[in-house]
Amino acid sequence: MHESPLTFFKEPLRSASLVDRFDRQLNYLRISVTDRCNMRCDYCRPAADAYQAEPRSQLLSFAEIERIVRVAARLGVNKLRITGGEPLVRKGLSELIASLARIEGISDIAMTSNATLLFKEAKALVDAGLHRVNISLDSLNPLHFRTLTGAELSPVLAGIQAAKEAGLTPIKLNTVLMRGINDDEVASLIDFAVAHDATIRFIELMPMKQGMDWDKHYISIEDILQREDVQQRVQVDAPLLTSNTAARYLPLKEGKGSVGFIMPMSSRFCDGCNRLRLTSDGGLRSCLPADEQLNLRDLMRRGGTDKAIADVFLRSAMLKPEIGVYDFSSDNEKRSMIHIGG
Ligand code: SAM
Repeated sequence: MHESPLTFFKEPLRSASLVDRFDRQLNYLRISVTDRCNMRCDYCRPAADAYQAEPRSQLLSFAEIERIVRVAARLGVNKLRITGGEPLVRKGLSELIASLARIEGISDIAMTSNATLLFKEAKALVDAGLHRVNISLDSLNPLHFRTLTGAELSPVLAGIQAAKEAGLTPIKLNTVLMRGINDDEVASLIDFAVAHDATIRFIELMPMKQGMDWDKHYISIEDILQREDVQQRVQVDAPLLTSNTAARYLPLKEGKGSVGFIMPMSSRFCDGCNRLRLTSDGGLRSCLPADEQLNLRDLMRRGGTDKAIADVFLRSAMLKPEIGVYDFSSDNEKRSMIHIGG
């Protein structure tokens, strides 16, 4: 039996809120619900022979995730993002979302997905309390898409449509830019987003533990903005608009709307970082590229109290570095996006 958060937290919320050493308020928890995925993207996971999913018993149960979020909410976390692996391959995800949506203090629940299973699930997810979805889309060419992901493009397109119809809006599309792989598709991806009333964000490839050669495929946003077909569509000389996310935006030339750019490599956005990450096996991480993570799963399974969970959150906040540094020498197996959740 663990003590109820209501009995532990007698003091007002503010007295124990998550503020790090650089005065950043951490109110956003990204929760990876699985390390399994129905795609095989080389930029996201270690090479096939080096990838090993955790035994299911090592993953957090829904009850454990809910308990962690209850404690986090009492510390001021109000915003959640469900991610993975592919979150929709975890059975019963809508039930988890419904239970998280009922937690006092949680006001926003979003998800990052590859959308392959959304056409079946979108309505149930909305009914459960999901507000928005970000969808990964790295190519519009079915053959390239299959080579890149090992999956078909058509279910993803159906998923985008289903998300729109279910009201999971505004839909954001995420494209990881890879030189020689999809950097020639930027203009067509922008046109696709405009036609589907979605906002597209281009993400610089990060050097994580992955099955892709980062040096060979990294391309900066600055390079992308030099392209003629991009300049025909985007006001590249306009000032970059900031947002309360990691993305910076430039207006489109025609119509309304903008295009987003996430530049973890060429232009850090750590100043306003409000994030903590929970891995599917219960690791709490305060910085995406930093290897430090504190283990909540073992603590809970040893009978740890809610106060002990809260202490781990406070400790994690104190460990958050001022700036995230991509340590190219690090060879930590757990440093792939499929493990951390992106
Ligand atoms: N399966 C889901 C999906 O495809 O969106 C959620 C998990 S995925 C790890 C979350 C995000 O991380 C996706 O937008 C993905 O493109 C991004 N990502 C994965 N590896 C990356 C890398 N090496 N550099 C930049 N972004 C990456």
